[in-house]
Amino acid sequence: MIISFLLAVITAAGLLFLDIDTLNLEDSLGDEVDDETFDMIYDYLDTYLRFCGVIFLIIGIVQLVGAYFAIKRTYWIFVVIAAFLGLFTIGPFCLGSILSIAAVVFIFLSKDEFDQDKGTPPEQYPPQQDSYYSQPPTPPQSDSYNGQPPPPQSKLCDECGEMMTYDEGYGLWFCERCDRYK
Ligand SMILES: [Zn+2]
Repeated sequence: MIISFLLAVITAAGLLFLDIDTLNLEDSLGDEVDDETFDMIYDYLDTYLRFCGVIFLIIGIVQLVGAYFAIKRTYWIFVVIAAFLGLFTIGPFCLGSILSIAAVVFIFLSKDEFDQDKGTPPEQYPPQQDSYYSQPPTPPQSDSYNGQPPPPQSKLCDECGEMMTYDEGYGLWFCERCDRYK
């Protein structure tokens, strides 16, 4: 819990330094605008800065999402990627990179806290097995065997050899000659 909180704070701090760094770059570049001879270079640098700004913005968003996942302690790999991306945000006095290194260390230390047994929910299998075993129960089969008489095929008396008739009421075979239920 504490490690995750520290991680979130560190990542957020890295994002903050990242913004300051980008602002500083724009400010320093703004001083060079007066020099008209470097207009072309400025245009190039401006495009370059905007491009970098977009990249830094994306990295910042990724870090923000990474911090969110770090708090939730899910998608550990994503948090690692976000922290590694933070390494490229140097920031003032390399604080961005230093904080990102610390974040990576903390992420690896708190790896056990993350959800790793997501894909193996063992509680889902027992109910499936129960339903599988309870669904094809024997009642229909036993009903057909108990309620219905045995195949009413002809049966010969084993004593006199006469054709016997099946009595459904008694569930027995009756020999007329022997006058007996079998
Ligand atoms: Zn008989």
